Amino acid sequence: MQNPTLSDEILSLATRIREHVSYLHELGVETVPAAEPAQATVESNATYPADQIQNLFQMHSQASQPVAFPAVARSDVAPKASPNTPKTRQTGTDTLFGVLSPASQKLEQTTETFEDIRADIGDCIRCPLHQGRTNIVHTEGNRRARLMFIGEAPGADEDAQSRPFVGRAGQLLTKIIEAIGLKREDVLIGNVNRCRPPGNRPPTEEEATMCKPFLLREIASVQPEVIVVMGNTATRNLLNAKLGITKLRGEFQDFHGVRVMPTFHPAYLLRDPSKKKETWQDLKKVRDYLETTAKRNS
Ligand code: URA
Repeated sequence: MQNPTLSDEILSLATRIREHVSYLHELGVETVPAAEPAQATVESNATYPADQIQNLFQMHSQASQPVAFPAVARSDVAPKASPNTPKTRQTGTDTLFGVLSPASQKLEQTTETFEDIRADIGDCIRCPLHQGRTNIVHTEGNRRARLMFIGEAPGADEDAQSRPFVGRAGQLLTKIIEAIGLKREDVLIGNVNRCRPPGNRPPTEEEATMCKPFLLREIASVQPEVIVVMGNTATRNLLNAKLGITKLRGEFQDFHGVRVMPTFHPAYLLRDPSKKKETWQDLKKVRDYLETTAKRNS
């Protein structure tokens, strides 16, 4: 006779698998790795046929030659955008993981912590957005993350809870992170602006200019290997890009030696679910890059 506890467990497992497959399907995922997906903090254990792995590494070693980045002097303000930041996707180095825009100056090491940066932000009144906020929404997540996600600015849920990406768009972002084999706690999640703009409008250039330096200092503090910029505001502000997200998405760009993948904002995906497929293509590039690149040992 069947053990009822075991059958309950199997049923619950089947339900969870069905849910997982259904959200992967929602994201436009057509195939999944055969084994458990990799965590951000551990080496990948995803399995691929040996010949594919060999080809991948051969292609990688042929395609991506090391690039020398000149170091920039540490400054007490956030790193400034490089004059070499991308304007088009045509220029740059063609690598296995897409076109990298020309190398810019590398992020300098800093001993500054998130606590130092938050102390500096304080009860900020630097821009008019402070007037309408309930809470400042700081960057959250793993301070040793290899991967960072950047959005635009908090919405109502984020403003109420003082946490980034916790509303509907945030739930979709969590699914996207899980779809590439990671957990929210593995990555860093932040925004260009930390206070909610009225009516959820995009922050103005002046508002973004006031707030962005703190994000850039966090990037220098964590030194993530890959940053995903979601939507136009994040892409423009990190990359000084002139082109919109539709043109830039899907190709790695460079920010001071950090690979940056522009993709659609999850709020946009909620409005136009047909774009989930392209987002999944972009995120697969990120996943593949992290999985085939040695985890940094610092
Ligand atoms: N949209 C954003 O850009 N950021 C958030 O934190 C939430 C929604």
